[in-house]
Amino acid sequence: FSVKKAFFALVANGVRAAPLWDSKLQCFVGMLTITDFINILHRYYKSPLVQIYELEEHKIETWRGLLQNQLIFCHLLSLFDAIYSLLKNKIHRLPVIDPVSGNVLHILTHKRILKFLHIFGSKIPKPRFLQKRISEVAIGTFREIATVQESASVYEALSIFVERRVSALPVVNDQGRLFSLWHFNLAAQKNYNNLNMTMHEAVASRACCLEGVLKCYPYETLEIIIDRIAKAEVHRLVLVDKDDVVRGIVSLSDLLQALILTPAGIDALYS
Ligand code: AMP
Repeated sequence: FSVKKAFFALVANGVRAAPLWDSKLQCFVGMLTITDFINILHRYYKSPLVQIYELEEHKIETWRGLLQNQLIFCHLLSLFDAIYSLLKNKIHRLPVIDPVSGNVLHILTHKRILKFLHIFGSKIPKPRFLQKRISEVAIGTFREIATVQESASVYEALSIFVERRVSALPVVNDQGRLFSLWHFNLAAQKNYNNLNMTMHEAVASRACCLEGVLKCYPYETLEIIIDRIAKAEVHRLVLVDKDDVVRGIVSLSDLLQALILTPAGIDALYS
């Protein structure tokens, strides 16, 4: 399979990732995700006029050989272990594999886990810190936030993605005010051959996806923030001050760490 075909298959099925099956080894050997696509694009892009040969010609095998990453998965473990694995490995998808047949039973994501906790939350006693303001509990990242200027090119944004290994970038203006939130979406990314356009143009032409920029403010309580993130089914909120200047990111990883792992005395995210 060529890399390009594989990515088109992802788009056609409306998913952001798929487990990779090795027919020789007769087992799943990895996950192919949007992040892989970003890495290929970033590595081999030259100009809007030059076709990305590697995208057309590379076989997935070649590409995986370069990456040499192994499949991280779990058997039917506890939800706690699954959360630990997602956070520790900084991955967004964890295939659950049947130990007997080797089949992928399903794929766990932060979103699904939070939704589950949100639905069943009413039956579990609520921690007192839910009533505290986000600025007090400091759940999230508030320093060295990776952002991209709206005047920067899409290629520069990809570089920041690759370097910082973040899953979304707030797009800001000269004053650091939030303009949009960018995360790479293949289906919306028709113009991936022109990475020279500015982020402003990309946002305006919707060549990149805007996850309806959802914000939160330092004075809001954790409970309100969890409610907003769960209802909107997004992965993160951008924390802004009253002038809309970006001050932080509160992502599902931060929430799962704070709600599930920290009370058990375990730090998977920040260590
Ligand atoms: P995520 O992979 O989005 O769940 O986030 C993993 C960790 O990175 C969390 O602690 C987030 O707060 C943090 N994070 C996410 N996006 C950014 C960003 N653009 N800049 C800095 N940190 C981020």
